[in-house]
Amino acid sequence: MIKIKAKKAFTPTKIPGADYVINHYVGCEHACSYCYAKFMCKWYNYGKWGSWVVVKENLPELVKKENVKGEVYMSSVSDPYQPIEKKIKLTRKVLENMNKKIKLSILTKSDLILRDLDVLKEFEDIEVGLTINSFDGKLKKEIEPFSPSNERRIEALKILNENGIKNYAFISPIIPNLVDVEELIKETRNFVNFYWFEFLNLKAGSKEFKEWLKKNYPESYDLISDKDKAEKYVREVVKIIKNGNISVKGICVHYPRLMMVK
Ligand code: SF4
Repeated sequence: MIKIKAKKAFTPTKIPGADYVINHYVGCEHACSYCYAKFMCKWYNYGKWGSWVVVKENLPELVKKENVKGEVYMSSVSDPYQPIEKKIKLTRKVLENMNKKIKLSILTKSDLILRDLDVLKEFEDIEVGLTINSFDGKLKKEIEPFSPSNERRIEALKILNENGIKNYAFISPIIPNLVDVEELIKETRNFVNFYWFEFLNLKAGSKEFKEWLKKNYPESYDLISDKDKAEKYVREVVKIIKNGNISVKGICVHYPRLMMVK
């Protein structure tokens, strides 16, 4: 854990659907091998992704003083409910001090967020997303080793819904043959308000992840790395999504560049 003091809490962003981002942590103990935030290692040279977390310890004070108009997204280069949060409660303190009129969107892979239901309920306009993708067993150990299981994340979505908090499922990363989008929609549709979908961004994950996918799941790699095959695959999945009769906020496709399908 590296403690630092930040100058600002909110940063303008081009992330689809958001105007500002807040990252009170940088780095993530969940250590997903495909993580797009690994590029942060260029600026924070503390070792392997997943082995360090930068803690902006003054963020709870900064959010008291700063206010923004527009939608704020928490967080883009970490998970606000990674394991360290259980101990130091930085996310909770940031939420407690934040203006409750701010339009806030939180995304996590952890059901630890349920600890903060009381604070979440104080916000006038809030949505909470859980990333789901159905990785389990050996596959999960290899690519998402330290995050809670998909079952726990799905259960968290259900509990958020029961508590009247607007929720969304972020189905990501969609990898051919490894993620069954239709099944995930079926499993969650009764208690999820809306969905985001994101196809794997092979370029943004590390070189090691690319090599790992190629070696262990050559068919998946082939379907996602060949432009024509990838486009066909994306079309098929988008058709499933559109036939799903669900509310879809966005579909992120990264072939050959980020495109939003609606
Ligand atoms: S939970 Fe998100 S931020 Fe953390 S390692 Fe995984 S993909 Fe990266």
